Amino acid sequence: MENNFDVIVIGGGPGGYVCAIRAAQLGLKTACIESRGTLGGTCLNVGCIPSKSLLNLSENYHKAKKDFNNQGIEISNIKLNIDKMMSNKDKSVQVLTKGVEFLLKKNKVSYYKGKGVLFSENDVVVFDSKDSSKRTNLKAKNIVIATGSFPTSLPGVEIDEKNIVSSTGALSFSEVPKNLVVIGGGYIGLEMGSVWSRLGSNVTVVEYLDFITPGMDREVSNEFKKILTKQGINFKLNNKVTAVKNVNSKVLVEFTNNKTNSKEKIECDKVLVSVGRKPYTEGLNLSKIGIKKDAKGTIEVNEKLQTSIKNIYAIGDVIKGPMLAHKAEEEGIAVAEIIAGQAGHVNYNVIPGVIYTSPEVATVGKTEEELKIENKTYKVGKFPFMANSRAKVNNETDGFVKILADSQTDKVLGVHIIGPHCGDMIAEMALAMEFGASAEDIARTCHAHPTHTEAIKEAALAVDKRPIHF
Ligand SMILES: Cc1cc2nc3c(=O)[nH]c(=O)nc-3n(C[C@H](O)[C@H](O)[C@H](O)COP(=O)(O)OP(=O)(O)OC[C@H]3O[C@@H](n4cnc5c(N)ncnc54)[C@H](O)[C@@H]3O)c2cc1C
Repeated sequence: MENNFDVIVIGGGPGGYVCAIRAAQLGLKTACIESRGTLGGTCLNVGCIPSKSLLNLSENYHKAKKDFNNQGIEISNIKLNIDKMMSNKDKSVQVLTKGVEFLLKKNKVSYYKGKGVLFSENDVVVFDSKDSSKRTNLKAKNIVIATGSFPTSLPGVEIDEKNIVSSTGALSFSEVPKNLVVIGGGYIGLEMGSVWSRLGSNVTVVEYLDFITPGMDREVSNEFKKILTKQGINFKLNNKVTAVKNVNSKVLVEFTNNKTNSKEKIECDKVLVSVGRKPYTEGLNLSKIGIKKDAKGTIEVNEKLQTSIKNIYAIGDVIKGPMLAHKAEEEGIAVAEIIAGQAGHVNYNVIPGVIYTSPEVATVGKTEEELKIENKTYKVGKFPFMANSRAKVNNETDGFVKILADSQTDKVLGVHIIGPHCGDMIAEMALAMEFGASAEDIARTCHAHPTHTEAIKEAALAVDKRPIHF
């Protein structure tokens, strides 16, 4: 009964591989199927990891070029070697994807390379990635769909991954585009826009809404736009892109202002289309076996992450919720534990979100706008990094910490930070919220000096109008 499993996971991204490892830890005989050829999904191959590698490397380059001389570190002839930078990124990806393969082996998860297709509620066939006539029949008591998402485009705009690219293409330009247009002011567009702007591109972001990063606390989003503008990124907000055309070796982007109806054109070398992602379920046979999707193509699940067929679960980008690797991982663990008869669950109120620009932006919990819609009364505590000693000595004073707490109970409802290293700092706030902390709990916790985290303590004090250093 070699091909009979307790759990088969289709998709080896952060949702799928984490689910497979947890299931195996719990003593379940587990298989993981991945069609890409390498494990780690979008995140490791063409998402979180390569983008963070380029963000880090481009920031180092930019700092060396722009800041070091002022700080008494004199270097001349700083040159960009884009091939080396890209191979650095590719190496990081390779090491990490191999690492996941090792982890599956270590945990005795059977790894199948190929496309997994559902043939019944217990039957999955793996079609070999290289030769689809080669198939392996597998059976499982439980199946987890973790097939992720793919980048979408605008009507009439064809992504060719040459001059009109998705985030995947923007992770691998062989030279720095002189002019880059980014369509969409969400986190992927702004991270990739920052990378190429630091490396020398003239970057213009065209966004349909009159603000960037939809869903983010508006005060933070406005501050973020101000800082990025100061860094040299141009914004065309409230504009609808009407055409993107390849003209000779350039691209022409046409757009119309939503308010004034005035039309504009930009000729550029590359266009990054970053207008969102869609759940990926192609070729899985979902409708044939009766798994329901909503109008957006998202697989419908209940609170136990079960689809319309009870022994088939779905997790990660393919279901509702923020398309984030750590959300997918949490769901993967919850499903494995539910299948093993435990009480796995995900607290959707406490899922942090980070944008890895410089400064970083990090949020967890409710925004002010959401609290207003919910008619919740709340207090706001804010503290600027300008008044934080560590930020000051490091010349990283842009941004602030903002804590929203319940007016009656003082319970922390949301934390929104723009500033240095806040992608790491937000973990403290997620932990505090998991434990139901009040702003006073945070204010009474000793924070090391001098650290950026003191700005969190001060913002918590500011909820009660008693910050010390501001
Ligand atoms: C540029 C970029 C940057 C990002 N940065 C971040 C970040 O900093 N932090 C963060 O949290 N998130 C980030 N994300 C989002 C993150 O990558 C996704 O939310 C995450 O990868 C979703 O995990 P998943 O397991 O649901 O799906 P995926 O990672 O998409 O994995 C699904 C896998 O399933 C495979 N598959 C699909 N169909 C089949 C099939 N039939 N058979 C076998 N295999 C199949 C696919 O090949 C894929 O490898 C980023 C995304 C992008 C594009």
